[in-house]
Parts: sequence; structure tokens; C-alpha cells
Amino acid sequence: MIRVVVTGAAGRMGREVVKAVSRTPGMEVVGAVDPGHPGQDVGLLAGIEALGVTVRGDLAEVLRTSKATVMVDFTTPGAAVANIKTALEYGVRPVVGTTGIAQRDVEEIKAICREKRLGGLIVPNFALGAVLMMHFAGIAARYFPDVEIIELHHPQKLDAPSGTALQTADIVARSRQEKGVGDRTEVEKLDGARGGNLEGVRIHSVRLPGLVAHQEVIFGGLGQTLTIRHDSTSRESFMPGVIMAIKKVMELEQLVYGLDRLIFG
Ligand code: NAD
Repeated sequence: MIRVVVTGAAGRMGREVVKAVSRTPGMEVVGAVDPGHPGQDVGLLAGIEALGVTVRGDLAEVLRTSKATVMVDFTTPGAAVANIKTALEYGVRPVVGTTGIAQRDVEEIKAICREKRLGGLIVPNFALGAVLMMHFAGIAARYFPDVEIIELHHPQKLDAPSGTALQTADIVARSRQEKGVGDRTEVEKLDGARGGNLEGVRIHSVRLPGLVAHQEVIFGGLGQTLTIRHDSTSRESFMPGVIMAIKKVMELEQLVYGLDRLIFG
């Protein structure tokens, strides 16, 4: 039985994780941490039956008493880094969906995992379709170096651009032989009109009610465009990836970044 502590358990993603883990044979929710809703049963909070697990505020205390093996974190970047370090101190493997974690923090966490020979996963996007979108974008960039990214999310999202857009731009930048139109210098009559620029790949962020998580990668060539689009229309789309990650992290002895490494090797 894989014993899972959920941090950010009262949040939008945390509640989905509680539902998904408690429905999956071979794993169970043994702890829930969130400064919001302390004292409440986490099952009832997630809209399912009572699980007998109360939401608490102190992760270290929960790890001391729950005999957890995996921590699943969907919080904020600052909280996630602190939570990951606490989990690793207790020998608990982190599976992290929180986006916006700085590269230097990822490197530090990698070093701790290596030293302790503990598996960990940081995954900017758990949706299988999004992982495939990034993979296909890497292939297309070999033939179409001119590319821009539009990512669209709900307005509560704290970071822009999304972790997925950054990862896609990085994959594209590493795949293409030559640089595209993003490198040209033009007059920007309105600040930000051309979006952000990661190694010559322009990224545009849209925030609107009614959206969940969406991305278009648009390639332009002579007389043609190619658009690769992915839509997460509900937060359930992330759960098969989260469940896969919880199982896989038990076999790892290092930190792995991105679900693509697990799927494509
Ligand atoms: P949310 O605001 O609904 O939930 C975050 C929760 O974390 C809140 O309930 C908050 O009280 C709690 N929290 C804050 N500090 C905490 C701490 N120190 N310990 C424990 N809990 C703490 O946000 P959300 O929509 O659930 O998103 C959470 C994160 O997940 C964001 O970074 C978002 O970008 C990311 N996300 C990732 C994926 C993915 O596939 N990787 C998908 C969707 C969202």
C-alpha cells in the first residue's frame, strides 16, 4: 500500500488528488495538509465519503505520525520548496505539481534526492495530452523553426507564463537548428505586445474566466501554418498522470523533472 500525504489538500487540485488517490487500489490518503480548512475531514472536503483523515497545518507533524511514503504537493512555489525539503528529511518521496518553482531550487532538490538516494518527481503538467503536445512540438521544430506559443488559463493562476509554456519553449529551442522570427527586433508600440521571449520563442499568456488550462503551439512556414493544441477542460485530466507518478516515484532513486521522462524514457 502506498501511503500518500496531500499538501494543498483543500485547494482545487488537492481535492482532485484526494478523490483520485482514494479511488485507486494500492494507495491511500493517510495525511492532508493545508492552512485552510483545518480540522475538517479531507474526504468530505473533496466531496466524497469521510476518510477519517483530518486537514492539518503542520506537515512535519503529519509526516511524523502518518508513516507516509509519498507526498503529493499542489500549493504555491514557496510553500512547495519548503514542503519538498521537509518530506525528504522524513524519507518521504515528493510528487510535485506546483508550477513556478525556480530552476535553482530544482537543482538544490535534485542534489538532496541524489544524496539521500530518494526518488522525486516535479511535473509542470500531468495531462498526458500536454506531454504529447510538447513531444510533437519538439519534432515539428526541426522542420519549422518559426514558432510562437499561446497559453490560456483560468484567472486564479499565480504564475505567467505557465510552466508548460516554458518547458515547450525550451524543448523547441533545443530541437530547432536555426532560430525563428522571435529573434527579430521590432518596435513594440505597447509593452508586452510580442509576449515573453525564451531563447527566441515568443510566449503569450491569456487569463480569462471559463478557461482551465490550454495551449497552442503555432508553427509558420512558407505558405502554411501548423498548430498543435491541447485543452484540459477539467482538472480530472491531470489525475491519470498523478496516479502514474505516485506509482513510478517508488522505483526512482533521483529527482526526475517532467512526465515525459517517464513516458518516453
Ligand atoms: P489553489 O489555490 O486552489 O490551491 C492551493 C492550496 O495550497 C490552497 O488551498 C492553499 O491554502 C494551500 N497551501 C498554501 N500554502 C501551503 C502550505 N505551506 N502547505 C500546504 N498547503 C498550502 O491552487 P490550485 O489551482 O490547486 O493549483 C496549485 C498549484 O498547482 C499551482 O501552482 C498550479 O499552477 C499547479 N497546477 C499544476 C498542474 C500540473 O499538471 N502540474 C495542473 C494544475 C495546476
